[in-house]
Amino acid sequence: MPSPTLQNRSQQAAIAELLISEGEKQLQNPPQYLTLTESEPADRYLNDLKNYSHHLLLGCLMTPQINSTRAYGIPWKIGMAIRGQDFTSFLNVSEDEYIRIFQDLSLHRFSKSMGQRTSKAIWQIAEQYEGDASNIWSDTPSSCAVVRRMLEFHGAGIKVATMTANILAREFRVPMSDLICIDVSPDVHVLRVFRRLGLIREDQGGDILIYKARELHPVYPGVFDLSCWDIGRNWCRPNNPKCESCLMKDICPSSVNAHKQASAQGF
Ligand code: SF4
Repeated sequence: MPSPTLQNRSQQAAIAELLISEGEKQLQNPPQYLTLTESEPADRYLNDLKNYSHHLLLGCLMTPQINSTRAYGIPWKIGMAIRGQDFTSFLNVSEDEYIRIFQDLSLHRFSKSMGQRTSKAIWQIAEQYEGDASNIWSDTPSSCAVVRRMLEFHGAGIKVATMTANILAREFRVPMSDLICIDVSPDVHVLRVFRRLGLIREDQGGDILIYKARELHPVYPGVFDLSCWDIGRNWCRPNNPKCESCLMKDICPSSVNAHKQASAQGF
C-alpha cells in the first residue's frame, strides 16, 4: 500500500472532523457488555457496576506489569478464594491474607505489593466512598476529578488513573460533567489509523498520539478511540486494508483510491 504522508493543517482538520463526528455517533449507541477476561463470571462481575463496582476498580489497579486479561480476572479469583464476591466479603480480609492469596494463586508478578494494594483500596472504598466504589464517579464529576480520585489510590499512577476514567466514560458511558481529561488510548489500531491518515508520522508513537488528539479535539481527546478503533478493526487492517469500503477513503492520503486518482491525473 502507499506510504502515508503527514497532512497539512487544513487536511488534518477535515480528517479530524470526520473522525469526531463518527466517534460522537457511536457515543449515542447504548453501552456494550464488555469482555475483559477469559472467564464469563469474572466479566459478569466487572460489568455489574451497580452491585460490584469494586471488581472493576481492583481490576484496573492490577493492570501494571501483566496483561490486562489476567489483571481484570484477579478480583473474581480473590472472590472465589474468600467465598464471596460482594464488598463486605472483601472488607473482611486482612492485608496479610490478601498477600497470601496472591502468592498461593500466583495472581500477579508482584504478590506482596498487589496484596497490599488490594487491601488498601478496599479500606479506602470503605472509608471514603461508603463501601461502594461507584461513589467515585456517581456524582457526575468532571473527568479530571475522576482521574484525581483514582490517583489517590495506593499504587495508582497516571496511566492507571486515566485508563480507568477512559473505560468509565467510553465503555460504560458514566456521566461526567466534561471529558477534557479523557485521552485517546495508544492502542495498535488507533496508532495505525492515525499514521495512515497522516495525522502523525510513521515513526511517532503513543505520546505524540495523545497530544495530537488533545490538539485536534481538546474537549474530548478520547473521542478518536471510538472511530479509529472501528476503522482499524473493520477496514484498516495491518495488511491489505480495505480502502474501497472505508469511510475515510476520500480524504485518506494512504488510500489506494487516492493514489490511483493521483496517478491518473499525472501527479
Ligand atoms: S482509507 Fe481507510 S483503510 Fe485505507 S489506509 Fe486510509 S484509513 Fe486505512
